[in-house]
Parts: sequence; C-alpha cells; structure tokens
Amino acid sequence: MQLSDLENLKIAVVGAGYGGAAAAKALSLLGAQVDVYEQASRIREVGAGIGLRPSTMIRFREWGIFDAIAEVTSPSDYFEILTATGDPLMKEAWPADGEQVHTHLIHRGDFIDALLGVLPGGMVHLGHKLESVEEKGEGAILTFANGTTAEADLVVGADGIKSVVRHQLFSQQPPVFSGEHAYRTVISTDAAQGMVVDDNLRMYIGRGTKVYLLPLRHRGQVSFDITALNPDGTWAPQVTKENLLKTVEGFDERLVAITRDLDMDTVNIRAVYDIDPVDTWHTDSVVLVGDAAHSMLHHQGQGANSAIEDGGALADALKQADSLKEALALYQATRKPVTDELQRISRQGWTEEEINDVFPGQKPAAAGQE
Ligand SMILES: Cc1cc2nc3c(=O)[nH]c(=O)nc-3n(C[C@H](O)[C@H](O)[C@H](O)COP(=O)(O)OP(=O)(O)OC[C@H]3O[C@@H](n4cnc5c(N)ncnc54)[C@H](O)[C@@H]3O)c2cc1C
Repeated sequence: MQLSDLENLKIAVVGAGYGGAAAAKALSLLGAQVDVYEQASRIREVGAGIGLRPSTMIRFREWGIFDAIAEVTSPSDYFEILTATGDPLMKEAWPADGEQVHTHLIHRGDFIDALLGVLPGGMVHLGHKLESVEEKGEGAILTFANGTTAEADLVVGADGIKSVVRHQLFSQQPPVFSGEHAYRTVISTDAAQGMVVDDNLRMYIGRGTKVYLLPLRHRGQVSFDITALNPDGTWAPQVTKENLLKTVEGFDERLVAITRDLDMDTVNIRAVYDIDPVDTWHTDSVVLVGDAAHSMLHHQGQGANSAIEDGGALADALKQADSLKEALALYQATRKPVTDELQRISRQGWTEEEINDVFPGQKPAAAGQE
C-alpha cells in the first residue's frame, strides 16, 4: 500500500498483551493511526520467564527497540533437556548455525513493560473491555463494556486465548484442555540449590512432569516452572504444596528441595489450554493475531514469540500488498502454515502409558471443557 494510504489507515488493536503491543509498534511505524484498547485497568503479567528467540530479537532490531528490550534480559546460548535426575537428553543451540542473535531470557512482567514503554504516549486505552465487534461499510465498530465505541478501518484482535473477536467473527470452538497444570514462579538464584550454573534454560522431564529452570541473571533470579499432568480442567485450580511435591517425586533432590521451599502465595497456578487451528483469521477489516488466532501449548516456548512475529508479518503484508483486503490475505498465507505446525507439534505430549502411570485408569477432563 502507498505511504499516504497507510498514513490514513485508522487501526484499533484489541488487547495490550505481547501480540497487541507488538502489532501496535509495527503498525505505527508504518505511519498508521493506531489505538490499543485493553480490558485491564492495570497491566500485570505472570511472575515467570520466557525466551525471546533470535527471530523475535531481529524484529525488535528492525523496529529500533532492540536495546530497550535487551536491557532487561540475559542472552542465552542453549536450551537443554535432561531426565528427572539430570542426565542430558537433548540440547538446542539458540542461536542455531547461521543465526547472529542470541535468544534472550526475560521476565514476563519486564517484557510487557518494555514493549508498552516503546509505544507513543496515549496510544493504549486501559479499562476498555470489548463487548462486540461489528463490520460496517469499509471498517468495523467496537463497543466496550464502559459504554464507549470506536470505529476503525482495521481491527486487530489481539485479545488472547478467550478472544471475543475470534468468538464473534471466526470460530465458536472453545479452548481445549491439555490435561496439564502449569505452576510458575520466580525465586532468587540463591534459593536454587546451586542448580543455576550459567545463563541457559534447562528442562527436567519424567513421569508426567516437566520442571523448567530459566535463569534471569540480570535480576539475580530464576524462573522455576513445573508443568504436570492433572485431570482437573478448572482454569485456576486449587493446588497445595503437597500436590506440587507429588509432581516432582523422584526428581533431583535439589529440585524437590526448591519445591519444598516455595512460597505458595507467589506461585501462579493454571490449567493449560490451547485452541484448535482456526480456518480463517480475517475478514476485509478485522484480523486476528497472537493467541486469539493460534493459542498453542507452551511446550515449544513459541506462543509469545509467534505473537510478536504476527505483528511484524502484518506490517510487512500491508507494505507489500496493493489493498487492505490483499494484505490481510497475504498475512494469513504467511503466518498460518507456520503456527498450524507449531500448534500441532506443541500438542505432542505424553503417551497413554505415561498418563496411565501417573493417573491409573483416570482420563484428563474432556477436551474443550472450560
Ligand atoms: C504456562 C505457560 C507458559 C508459557 N511459556 C511461554 C514461553 O516460554 N515462550 C513463549 O513464547 N510463550 C509462552 N507462553 C505463551 C504466551 O504466554 C502466549 O502465547 C502469549 O502471552 C500470547 O500473547 P497475546 O498478546 O496473543 O495474548 P495475551 O497475553 O493473552 O494478551 C491478551 C490481552 O488482551 C486483553 N483482553 C482480553 N480480552 C479482552 C477484551 N474483551 N477487551 C479488551 N482486552 C481484552 C487481555 O487482558 C490481555 O492483556 C506460555 C503460556 C503459558 C500458559
């Protein structure tokens, strides 16, 4: 599209998570008029770490925000998978051969603060919970629970796994329960029983449980995450320290000790869900990005990274195509094959035998239960 067309484009982004913030940054760099509408009155993220992949960091360089993000990260050389007792199983170098940029480990809270911090002031409107989206003429109208409305030529639905935009325009399929819980917290490196020896992410795996140690050296902390089989699909289940200790039985004694010492008030507990692939991500004036489009299980560590990549691909498509309609089709054609595959791979979980070993005769709650 021509620069003048892009400058006249009024864009409303729904959701100020990683996907919405990244799309807002990329689209505002094109010169478009961007507003972001977020339901929360204060932005807060889970106390946990994630890895920003080389391709994500390269996008940040392109957007001129590499330093602002890198400042609150530690670069990492590889991700290692080990048995429950610490025997190495696999190592993935990041950067891989040919990649120039490291994966950077970051606290989720620092990440959203840094991303929102590089948006022009006044762009994000808090306290705007989307209730409905309606296409009208060549654009769409958003209605919020606070009684206000907004009109835009393009609406970007970045409203996460329970997306209202997806539900109203693209798919009414509910999220799908994975049969697992995620328990996430951040502890001081000193409390990590000497298990943090460098800046690399390690995952210990055995008997229905994965334990992640993700160092955040710049904070003197480590993200300590347990993902464990559990048939209870309640979104925010009640779980005790004893339950957690059961999930790490037989693991390296130091991992058991870290778990024993956890302050349960700091542990974020949730059942793990994804969505089935959505056939179509766009109309002529509304498009989905991030978890709203393709929420995936976290086993590949790609959900947030994919959300960032979506924002970049959407901006690229708008630059390359001759019209908005063409751009949205190009964006979907570029991104959907990649995220369909990531959704598929991320679902490759435990075998039935392994599940039966942890919960004899008990099946996880039915897929789709909320
Ligand atoms: C246990 C776990 C571990 C993970 N680990 C990793 C990892 O290591 N690496 C990785 O890349 N990814 C990881 N992910 C995935 C990652 O968290 C998500 O893919 C990412 O947060 C998606 O970003 P998003 O902006 O699309 O959605 P969200 O982060 O869900 O943001 C959506 C935003 O929209 C707002 N919103 C929702 N509804 C409305 C509404 N009606 N009106 C207005 N605003 C609304 C929400 O308040 C929120 O701010 C993990 C996920 C889980 C559950």
